[in-house]
Amino acid sequence: MTRVRGVERILSAYATLEGAGVRLHRAFGYYEVPQFDPFLMLDDFRSPRTEDYLAGFPSHPHRGIETVTYMLNGCVEHADSMGNAGSVNAGDVQWMTAGSGIIHSEMPKPVNGRMGGFQLWVNLPRANKMMAPRYQEIVSSDIPTVSPHPGVTINVISGQVDGIKGPVKDIVADPQYLDVTLGPDTVFSHPVKEGYTALAYVISGEGTFDAEEGYRISNRDLILFNDGSSFWVRSFDKGFRFLFIAGKPIREPVAWRGPIVMNTREELQQAFKEYDEGTFIKTNA
Ligand code: FE
Repeated sequence: MTRVRGVERILSAYATLEGAGVRLHRAFGYYEVPQFDPFLMLDDFRSPRTEDYLAGFPSHPHRGIETVTYMLNGCVEHADSMGNAGSVNAGDVQWMTAGSGIIHSEMPKPVNGRMGGFQLWVNLPRANKMMAPRYQEIVSSDIPTVSPHPGVTINVISGQVDGIKGPVKDIVADPQYLDVTLGPDTVFSHPVKEGYTALAYVISGEGTFDAEEGYRISNRDLILFNDGSSFWVRSFDKGFRFLFIAGKPIREPVAWRGPIVMNTREELQQAFKEYDEGTFIKTNA
């Protein structure tokens, strides 16, 4: 039997400063642990002003997590300590498993005056924290767009919709990552695995995920769903676009400092010691 997920919490992204002085909006992060387990953080760096983001994210390490960059406009140029370099362009996704460690830079750049995207941090369980680093770089043309219902279009980044699978595969958290657009006054529901953490983050328009209370939510609002086997959504007259993200909780202790997330303080201290001593990188991606 289908059990529709209710709304557990509604949050709004808050302005914060990251990297070398990038002004962005954080949907959730350090202070929300462990509510979004296995997800640690979701940053929204859409901005009309180059001065908000050109300073970028110069060389920094990651260990114990995955970072998922999804661009709507502009690009992020990236380069890492192992010699990988490239750019994530509008509509592309970079799913980076830092595992035992990478050191990289990420520099947002405008294209035709526009830049915007999202970065999600996904935790890794103890058994995978020190796995070999790897990238899945997906260009927009490889991301299927599905219309499972009239007035609904979904870019399937990971997981599946109507049997169409997204290109990001073999991720420990078994994630579903969808970019969902509803036309005006459209109702839609979609299955979600029971027991998985599920959230929605609004990109534009107005809608509701709560059939009874009908709270209207809009740009930069975040929904944490409670448990169930599907979610329900309704758009209002402007249409509605949101990210829908779900994954399997890890339920392990989280020790988090900056760009490194481990299980214990000792593992964190070890990681920063190795970074200082130049022994952080274990294997080539
Ligand atoms: Fe990074």
